[in-house]
Amino acid sequence: MDLGIQGKSALVCGASRGLGLGCAEALLAEGVHVTIVARDPAVLEQAASALRAKVGSSVATVAADITAAEGRAAALAACPQPDILVTNAGGPPPGDFRDWSRDDWIAALDANMLTPIELIKATVDAMMARKFGRIVNITSNSVKAPIDALGLSNGARAGLTGFVAGLARKTVKHNVTINNLLPGAFDTDRLAAIFAGAAQSGNRSAEEIRESRRVMIPAQRFGTRQEFGAVCAFLCSAHAGYMTGQNILLDGGAYPGTY
Ligand code: NAD
Repeated sequence: MDLGIQGKSALVCGASRGLGLGCAEALLAEGVHVTIVARDPAVLEQAASALRAKVGSSVATVAADITAAEGRAAALAACPQPDILVTNAGGPPPGDFRDWSRDDWIAALDANMLTPIELIKATVDAMMARKFGRIVNITSNSVKAPIDALGLSNGARAGLTGFVAGLARKTVKHNVTINNLLPGAFDTDRLAAIFAGAAQSGNRSAEEIRESRRVMIPAQRFGTRQEFGAVCAFLCSAHAGYMTGQNILLDGGAYPGTY
């Protein structure tokens, strides 16, 4: 299926690894000009070289912290008028809410709520003027079902979800859609770090924790970044213009609800 976005430009945040990289790969495969953002220049350049080797040269890089105003300015200077925006940053650390200070909450809100909102604010009006725009926010299954140890994520991402629900209904008449993609358990560095952290604070190995998590997923496996990227690319496609304000769960069937 031709997704109808060849030649469009995309800004993909948090894209040197994991789910963001999966989105960048899938958009590049559709002929999109992609700018990828991540903090570590060496890891970012490594990712960009691998992408160029696979799909050609339409990959630009910005080494920046997307949660900082200067980082967002640098990303938008490199890709000032994206047709496609994928927002993403690292998730907040796990813990007990009794240990979190106001600064911990502000950091989580900055990364997982206010940064996507700032990026949308900087790009959405020009998208509406051009009559094409696709915005995808990478959030979490914690939006549908809270995760015990990830209270910072549960709270901050719920705020973004509420904001998007309102704005997405205002932009769609201009062919600008805003949707959220909710990963369940995907096999990325982030998931490995969570298992390693849990192993350190408990009496099971990371491998045992991983296995006990795997068997609880109806699909009996973790998702891949390629699967995530493919759904993202469809949401960014010319065919998805009637779909906005949705929270799309990709979790191998783990969420137990009927709706
Ligand atoms: P990851 O750690 O594997 O990759 C994150 C990417 O974002 C990396 O490229 C990293 O360099 C970049 N990044 C992180 N913070 C950044 C910042 N401040 N500025 C710029 N770049 C930044 O993580 P992932 O597994 O791909 O997860 C992506 C998002 O999805 C996270 O917010 C995570 O909490 C959420 N999530 C992931 C899973 C999962 O199973 N992997 C499940 C639920 C939610």
